[in-house]
Amino acid sequence: MLILGEILTMTDPARAEAVYLEGGRIADVGAAEDLQARYPGAKRIRVQRVTPGLHDAHTHPLSWGQHLSMLNLSGLHDPREVAARVAERARELPPGSWIHGSGYLFEAYPDKTLLDQAAPQHPVFLLSRDFHSGWANSRALARAHITPTTPDPEGGVIVRDASGEPTGYLLERATGLMQALLPAPTVQELFLGLQDLARRGYTATHHMGWCPLAFAEELAQHERLPVRLWWAMDKDNWRGVEPGWRGESLEVAAVKFFADGALGSRTAWMSEPYPDGSLGMPLDDLAFILEEGKAALTAGFGLAVHAIGTRAVRGVLEVFRELAQHPLPRPLRMEHAQHVRDVDLPLFRGLPMALSMQPIHALEDAALVRYHQPGREHQAFRLRDLWNTGLPLAFGSDAPVAPPDVRGGLEAALHHPLCPAQSLSEAETLWAFTRGAALAAGWREHGQIRSQAPADLTLWEAEKPVGRVYQGGLELF
Ligand SMILES: [Zn+2]
Repeated sequence: MLILGEILTMTDPARAEAVYLEGGRIADVGAAEDLQARYPGAKRIRVQRVTPGLHDAHTHPLSWGQHLSMLNLSGLHDPREVAARVAERARELPPGSWIHGSGYLFEAYPDKTLLDQAAPQHPVFLLSRDFHSGWANSRALARAHITPTTPDPEGGVIVRDASGEPTGYLLERATGLMQALLPAPTVQELFLGLQDLARRGYTATHHMGWCPLAFAEELAQHERLPVRLWWAMDKDNWRGVEPGWRGESLEVAAVKFFADGALGSRTAWMSEPYPDGSLGMPLDDLAFILEEGKAALTAGFGLAVHAIGTRAVRGVLEVFRELAQHPLPRPLRMEHAQHVRDVDLPLFRGLPMALSMQPIHALEDAALVRYHQPGREHQAFRLRDLWNTGLPLAFGSDAPVAPPDVRGGLEAALHHPLCPAQSLSEAETLWAFTRGAALAAGWREHGQIRSQAPADLTLWEAEKPVGRVYQGGLELF
């Protein structure tokens, strides 16, 4: 198959006019005239633009699949609006069945009253857009046996009123008390999430948690993975798991840690306080990340560490500086790197790490950053400053936190909503969605259009994906 168009190779030379594929590999790249002469009988396709296959470098594909089928509260900031949606859903569902939704973001934690009024007969549990906190009604609290005497779980908070009564709001790992009661997730939901990525032009994604590995292994075994899947294990369940490839499309590659929470839930761990005087919260202890990280590296895994707040970023940089002394099978990864102080910028340089960032969050979070970190907006989403460190940037969406929409990522990176000087060029942004992400995965031959690289491509018209080549097979949307 011969594809003609503007080919952005993400290698040297940066542009070509034609790419010729043979089976699952790229066989030739060059000038249109030359390749047409060399492969006269080849099937030809003409498209405006071709890039290496898009990666989404940070997703929760099972949660995304579930999200596609649950109450979507995206864009809602008023608890009363959310309660109205819940009331609507309650009218459609038999009493006693769960109402589950996600996507809202509030400035303050509401209590259960509104949800009790909206759905008195249904247990309700809703997750915030960043998935770091949740809102439940009385029925759901009763099902989970959350009472005034229930202790806060480790790494979580059951928000309580002055009398000690749980208000219905749960932070971080306290949401697990509720999640455990919801219907069990299915392989089909993982497939749905991955298939949605495929239909948006992605050929690979990096799984960052919240899904049993057995689901992915089942899809891999039946060759039903619609995208290549780079897999991070949860820090609690990697022991006893063998790192490495399962067939052509699934690599069990890393262990994921959480140094802190997220800004919208006020759990991102900051060096300087939120307006209410709090500093957020560390989750996995830095000493634990260092020790457990060493063990995971020794076992052949890479590491991915979530760090959003300035204090968490600083701490993880210090941990990575220690780990850099060890032999590394692939770059260490910092997930998000969302808030970085000026004094910490020089510490990135030269570390054997990649920066996995989600520019699309800057669109929704700009207001949030102004609210929670007034006067420190320049510390957020420092795309240009971090690009200038020379480390590879790997872009993604953190779906279901944001939809895995590459156009949203491009929009935010090209026109930075908080600080225009932090914008990147289109070529740089596409590099981070392809080559940069492949480098962050440790997949050295991926994310570029050159002879012998895997035939994973994204096809574009008018700045949007209109098709893809996945493992040599063409799909037009
Ligand atoms: Zn995530």
